Amino acid sequence: MKQKIPNSFGLDVYAQHLVTVTSVEELHVAWQQAAAKQMPIMIIGEGSNTLFTTDFQGMIIVNRIKGIAVNETSTDWQLKVGAGEKWHDLVTYTVEGAMPGLENLALIPGCVGSAPIQNIGAYGVEFKKVANYVELYELATGKILTIDDGQYGYRDSIFKQKYADGYAVVAVGIRLAKKWQPVLTYGELKNFDAQTVTAKMIFDKVCAIRRSKLPDPHVLGNAGSFFKNPIVDQSVVNTLLAHYPTMPIYPQNNQCAKLSSGWLIDQCGLKGYQIGGAAVHQQHALVLVNQNRATSQDIVDLARYIRDSVVQKFAVNLSPEIRFIGQFGEINADKLLERVDGTS
Ligand SMILES: Cc1cc2nc3c(=O)[nH]c(=O)nc-3n(C[C@H](O)[C@H](O)[C@H](O)COP(=O)(O)OP(=O)(O)OC[C@H]3O[C@@H](n4cnc5c(N)ncnc54)[C@H](O)[C@@H]3O)c2cc1C
Repeated sequence: MKQKIPNSFGLDVYAQHLVTVTSVEELHVAWQQAAAKQMPIMIIGEGSNTLFTTDFQGMIIVNRIKGIAVNETSTDWQLKVGAGEKWHDLVTYTVEGAMPGLENLALIPGCVGSAPIQNIGAYGVEFKKVANYVELYELATGKILTIDDGQYGYRDSIFKQKYADGYAVVAVGIRLAKKWQPVLTYGELKNFDAQTVTAKMIFDKVCAIRRSKLPDPHVLGNAGSFFKNPIVDQSVVNTLLAHYPTMPIYPQNNQCAKLSSGWLIDQCGLKGYQIGGAAVHQQHALVLVNQNRATSQDIVDLARYIRDSVVQKFAVNLSPEIRFIGQFGEINADKLLERVDGTS
């Protein structure tokens, strides 16, 4: 019987088979079953970074492998965390246990196993700052591989590239240095005094800001930032600044700068813009929401409209941060948005 796929957009999307696994052994059994029937397989955490463009004609494996082990050394805390733990619960656990380092990443939905895959980031910190290793289960051989170098980039890693197919993240190693330095580079966090601030103060502030700015997916379905912030050449920045002197830019360490997708979308006057049941959030232009029983197609159509509007006004291409999943597996989100008919 078809089962509903957990997804933070709150879409009515179904999988032919859906299995929740709580151990590597259960993961292995589920994989074997799907492989024996030559079924497509997809492993997910909480579905908070995915858009299922249609029902999934295969097996969805929901990872709920739990457990947190802490090893304290003279210089740091080394954590080994089951991939199915909730990320925010881990952040809370470390902050309450006086192990600072994750506080800027509070309230990001999803599972720990997904954090290295897209190198989650917020408020001036990315996962790579605390990454120690990632344990992958190689589905074809049943072997566990330990990857020390995740080759992390902006919303990118080796787990999105080389290890995208046929591997499941089963555990994540995190290193939190005892010599803690608060990261106060972003927005309201700048108001804290670096000498007196505690990790708990940053955690509370980040939670408060996020609760005030971002829609709660349990109330209004969404998947956070829909598009990545585009990174463009300095020459493009110069041209744009000549027309839009107040445009926010974030210089990178080479001849490039990151632009704010939210600002670009907002400048197109799209806050609140709606197609079918999908809408651009009123407060946060980068967040697309399931306003009123949206279908996957509504969200794809809205994303395409936004992308086209930004290209027309700024000649800048937006690329989705969210992973698009078609009926047999991941599909190329950029290509889908380029297509006029929107079929998947
Ligand atoms: C309100 C809101 C705010 C957000 N804010 C942020 C933010 O500030 N910063 C940020 O970086 N992200 C943010 N996100 C995006 C999202 O929370 C993160 O990307 C998160 O890491 C996704 O976790 P998940 O478990 O839900 O992943 P899923 O959506 O379940 O999966 C994401 C991808 O990873 C793959 N995958 C998942 N688990 C495994 C596994 N164990 N093994 C192999 N592959 C796997 C899936 O197949 C899929 O391709 C936000 C989302 C929401 C809804």
